[in-house]
Amino acid sequence: MKTVEKIFRSDSSHWVGDGFPVRSLFSYNGDTQVISPFLLFDYAGPWTFEPVSGQPRGVGQHPHRGFETVTIVYDGEVSHRDNAGGGGTIGSGDVQWMTAGAGIIHEEFHSPGYSRSGGPFRMVQLWVNLPAKDKMTPPAYQAITRDMIPEVVLNGARARVIAGDLEGTRGAARTFTPVNLWDVRLDAGASIALPLPAGHTSMIAVLAGHVTIDGKAVGEAEIASLSIDGDGVQIAADRDSMVLVMTGEPIDEPVVGYGPFVMNSEDEIRTAFNDFNSGRFGAMAPA
Ligand code: MN
Repeated sequence: MKTVEKIFRSDSSHWVGDGFPVRSLFSYNGDTQVISPFLLFDYAGPWTFEPVSGQPRGVGQHPHRGFETVTIVYDGEVSHRDNAGGGGTIGSGDVQWMTAGAGIIHEEFHSPGYSRSGGPFRMVQLWVNLPAKDKMTPPAYQAITRDMIPEVVLNGARARVIAGDLEGTRGAARTFTPVNLWDVRLDAGASIALPLPAGHTSMIAVLAGHVTIDGKAVGEAEIASLSIDGDGVQIAADRDSMVLVMTGEPIDEPVVGYGPFVMNSEDEIRTAFNDFNSGRFGAMAPA
């Protein structure tokens, strides 16, 4: 079995624009070898927004290059729009897997409907690195709606397989490198064994509730980082719990990032800034 090597948590939160109250539970500014192929984990909410009648809350135009953003909406709705004419709404239970690749400029706001109604909001945005050979791939989206995500029923738990493979059930998302991403709900008192690949970076994020893994207590907004060695994990739910299981084959390449750009060298970061500032990412159409 894998063992718990580290617990990630954040003692502070910050706002991304005015729509996302975020705790960054890990980021590539930290120990990149521990988290590869993952780069950043932002937990937005839980939060309750009051209704607004004007411009929805969110974050305006910004670029990304060199990786993928995975947005998992639990409560609320997020609408996005980009410079290539793409756009859509990510509803409760839906996942957007965006390949920024060579470069994209987009905005992320609460949907007009959710903005008017207000209510509970909870979202995760996970950044997944791309291998050097794919960093400049054309930008793309996978709009994965809740009905496209298969569920595996376990003893006292249910796992939605967003990416990868759980007991022969294939996830909905295509990935560039081997990644598992499972949205798991456990009933209080349940204890489940999950197969996790040996050799994969493996992490269990607790979004709600409280679990015990390898004898270690893991509470809300904490991530248990597991050993690379070992081929499974036992999760015991002390309460009704919602966890996100992430595993990935490490990408053994340098990580050099600055804000929304994550590349392999300082030179590539300078090029990204030059390309963005000179309009080579393109431009968004007026709203
Ligand atoms: Mn973004």
